[in-house]
Amino acid sequence: MSESNQTTPTFDLFGLDERILDALADLGFEQPTPIQAAALPALLEGRDMIGRARTGSGKTAAFGLPLLQRVREGGNKPRALVLSPTRELAKQIGEALADYGGGLRSVRGVTIYGGAPYPPQIKALKRGASVVVGTPGRVIDLLDGGSLDLSELEMFVLDEADEMLSMGFYEDVSKILSLIPEGGQYLLFSATVSDEVKRLVSRFLKDPVDLYLSTDMDQVEGIT
Ligand code: AMP
Repeated sequence: MSESNQTTPTFDLFGLDERILDALADLGFEQPTPIQAAALPALLEGRDMIGRARTGSGKTAAFGLPLLQRVREGGNKPRALVLSPTRELAKQIGEALADYGGGLRSVRGVTIYGGAPYPPQIKALKRGASVVVGTPGRVIDLLDGGSLDLSELEMFVLDEADEMLSMGFYEDVSKILSLIPEGGQYLLFSATVSDEVKRLVSRFLKDPVDLYLSTDMDQVEGIT
């Protein structure tokens, strides 16, 4: 995506699992995008993050690669949850994670969203899912119905937080956050970070790394 130069790192500098590196090579990802280069080291260290970046910046891999690295040993109960405002975006994220983590045999991902029948999603969760991508309404329905168990969750990603709020999901996201065990890694991605977005997540974020991606998506402007 970005021009090659001497300061641009390559993916193999981050200590990612070989199977993830192989998947990136197969996809033709030669260099991390600016948001990936800035986010990967901090996220692999377990830091929380506010990433001001929009679709097209490569943000899915920025959070997806650390997420996959972290859950690579699998497990039956979900260890990572990515919340997305729309079904289309949820599906895109689910597919991207399947691409990046295709070599990780023990990592199972399930995407859950409204407007689709419940039984296949319930069945998929019952088979065991270490990574769940979902829209807020369906996540709550499946939590309430007992099919989704977040008691072992270690990583939570709120994607497109501003969209989430403009679509009226404040209460739903608050409820989901209240059901997640403390001490996990929390990430927030949003094109803009309003006071309302901050209010939603400030209780949960611990000393987050704050990344500002410049509008031309060429460089990351601020890291704290
Ligand atoms: P995203 O912002 O995550 O939706 O990604 C935008 C597009 O860029 C997607 O089609 C990705 O497959 C692609 N992409 C993400 N990271 C890279 C990379 N490091 N190199 C090349 N393409 C990438």
